[in-house]
Amino acid sequence: MYKKINLRFHALSSMAICILLMTGCKKEEETTQHWDYENTDWATLGYTDCAGTVQTPIDIVTSQTIKTPLDELEFNYNPFNISIVDNGHTVQVNKGSSTNKLTVDGVTFEFQQFHYHTHSEHAVDGAFNDMELHLVHKDPVTGNLAVVAVFVKGTGNVENPFLSKYFSEFPAEQMKEIATNTTINLDDILPFQRGYYTYTGSLTTPPCTQGLRWIVMKEAVNASVQQISNFEARHEINARPIQPLNNRFVLEKL
Ligand SMILES: [Zn+2]
Repeated sequence: MYKKINLRFHALSSMAICILLMTGCKKEEETTQHWDYENTDWATLGYTDCAGTVQTPIDIVTSQTIKTPLDELEFNYNPFNISIVDNGHTVQVNKGSSTNKLTVDGVTFEFQQFHYHTHSEHAVDGAFNDMELHLVHKDPVTGNLAVVAVFVKGTGNVENPFLSKYFSEFPAEQMKEIATNTTINLDDILPFQRGYYTYTGSLTTPPCTQGLRWIVMKEAVNASVQQISNFEARHEINARPIQPLNNRFVLEKL
């Protein structure tokens, strides 16, 4: 409660400074305004793109997807050391010194970072998974982003080794990036089956920038029930509610 009051005070005081100075306010408001998952109407906080018509996440209705022989996903992943930061909304692993690439439809994207959401952000036929990882990639030529979403299902007590390594390096402090000697390979978190859904959407956190290519893996990977609880305990629910599909189509790889 104390935290919330404090953050509201910050928002009010920065607005007051804006009124007094009448300059540079909009930019300051847009880039620093606090946001959280209690009030997800982020457009009202100044993140105007969050009210756009091409937003993520969506509910993927399998009877309405366009089933087509899409390109195979070509992952060229290599081991790298975890460099990790708790940004207050999730815990993010940043790219290391090795190259990690995704090629699809003739475009090669470079891995930037991954992070998690509990429960999943995307739904399939109205059903959520326990967790969703986002592997964010960038086309170095155009700057366009492609995000691979991997669903995680909590079941039984067999730990997912990739998630164990990730969780074991969670920093105690927020906003401080920690370099570690723990090595991971992103291959180890991909599901065995490479079928996917794809559509155009947005970042699921402010500033909700649109025009991202989403690649949602159809098959979920497993983790233990305890692991899911551990991730939930760190950031409670950090999943944005489902957004309207509007005039978009979701393609499904046969
Ligand atoms: Zn995400």
